[in-house]
Amino acid sequence: MTSFSDFPLHKSILQAIHDMGFEEPSPIQAACIPKVLEGGDLIGQAQTGTGKTAAFGIPLVQKVSPVNRVQAIILTPTRELAIQVAGELLRIAKYNKIRTLPIYGGQSIGHQIRALRQGVQVVVGTPGRVLDHLRRKTLKLDHVHTLVLDEADEMLDMGFIDDIETIINHLPQERQTLLFSATMPPEIKRLATRYMKNPQTIAVSSEEVTAPLIEQVYYKVFERNKVESLCRILDSEDVDLGIIFCRTKRGVDELTEVLQSRGYLADGLHGDLSQAQRDKVMSAFREGSIEFLIATDVAARGIDVGNVSHVINYDIPQDSESYVHRIGRTGRAGRKGIAMTLVTPREVRQMMFIQKQTKAQIVPRNVPSLEEVAERKQEQLREQLISLLESDEIADMYYKVTSSLLDQYPAEKIAAAALHLAFYSETGEEKEPEGYNFGETGAAKGMVRFFLNVGRNVNMKPQDLVREISESVGIPGKAVGRIDIFENFTFVEVPEDVAPFVYEALRQTRINGKRINLEPAKPRGAKRS
Ligand code: AMP
Repeated sequence: MTSFSDFPLHKSILQAIHDMGFEEPSPIQAACIPKVLEGGDLIGQAQTGTGKTAAFGIPLVQKVSPVNRVQAIILTPTRELAIQVAGELLRIAKYNKIRTLPIYGGQSIGHQIRALRQGVQVVVGTPGRVLDHLRRKTLKLDHVHTLVLDEADEMLDMGFIDDIETIINHLPQERQTLLFSATMPPEIKRLATRYMKNPQTIAVSSEEVTAPLIEQVYYKVFERNKVESLCRILDSEDVDLGIIFCRTKRGVDELTEVLQSRGYLADGLHGDLSQAQRDKVMSAFREGSIEFLIATDVAARGIDVGNVSHVINYDIPQDSESYVHRIGRTGRAGRKGIAMTLVTPREVRQMMFIQKQTKAQIVPRNVPSLEEVAERKQEQLREQLISLLESDEIADMYYKVTSSLLDQYPAEKIAAAALHLAFYSETGEEKEPEGYNFGETGAAKGMVRFFLNVGRNVNMKPQDLVREISESVGIPGKAVGRIDIFENFTFVEVPEDVAPFVYEALRQTRINGKRINLEPAKPRGAKRS
């Protein structure tokens, strides 16, 4: 087992990592950090969700000094990723005087030029915009000692390969090059051979692992209403004991607070708690006085509780081994158990990857609707009432109150009022969280029709589109509805329930190298604005 403090990292960086709530390096980090610190070129085969950003970000921050020169450049395929990577670097460099700047197309170039003039040490950019700055001579790369190509296969798909080569030719020969990619198509291998020196390849957990034979499901959720989705799932399940996994200590604290404030019997467990605190939480969990244990991977290690009925991956695990460890906490000693994973649109690929490596049947499920949750609550209430009615546990005082009211009110109303009094706060007004409303799109019933800004002009065939949708949203290809491909645009229909996912996921992808844009279609006959 490794810990971040096993690496020769500055105290300031270790402190920042601690503040981020990371407890231990993810597998890709454990393999990459020491190698990057040693120097030497590296190819990392990893996708989003594995912790790859910090795998290069942590050693990179350590290697950069506060002198006023650009010393490292990270190329990313999209502006979203550039912003995200810059954000992660900022957190890692919290106690270091290092400035990181994301530069991407779509943002005012004047603003970027001013920011560059003020001096930055690390640039995170999309290839097109970086090249633009190089041509204008507003960005100088002659002191760069580290180049990172992040999501290289995506950059290739987007047709950035020539831009990347031009940028590399502006860099000093003497440098460290790190390349991260989920897949290794021949063009990426060629790029590596051409521009990297004896690169070492690090692929994390390519071995198959076997998942236990328990029921496994996943829910597609949105980042912005993840908590709400979790609550609905919890409310519609019969939970004996549940373990909810979060990625970081901070995540554990935040989720614990939210669930407690919503009235769940929940408590958190992570490495920053004292032994006494941990023992207290664990014994409460064993006794069942808390129903949900919220934990990081590290904290949950070694927990041996027999009757865990639910394991819930609130954050997707960083690799298949961790997935298998987590879900193995349920279904002990022949009992029934279920493992549930919440997956955001960006993480669907990681889910598919885990599924492939574990050869497990992980079945998609829909987050229950408010009506379903309400129905379930009524059912639970009925069960509780019946068991009370069949016992002798009702105090005399309550009989006295009801019988004194029976002359004036019908029994049914009295019972309902009593329930209202007892449960009002729990079943109080709930609103459907804001979702997407695509309006009338001219689609078949139960479907939503989208307009895509590419067509035959990028050689797109219906099967390309079906594959893209089914891979990035995780639905079977046959669920995709009618497709009409024209020269410069396309219409495609998808089932209503997955439409928001198609919308969020496809806006971030490209087909045959061309970035695609997606909008809800206008009904036939309406004019496009
Ligand atoms: P990435 O694969 O780089 O997109 O990272 C996915 C998420 O995992 C990000 O939110 C990171 O902040 C988080 N993360 C990265 N490394 C760790 C770690 N060692 N422990 C916990 N969370 C991490």
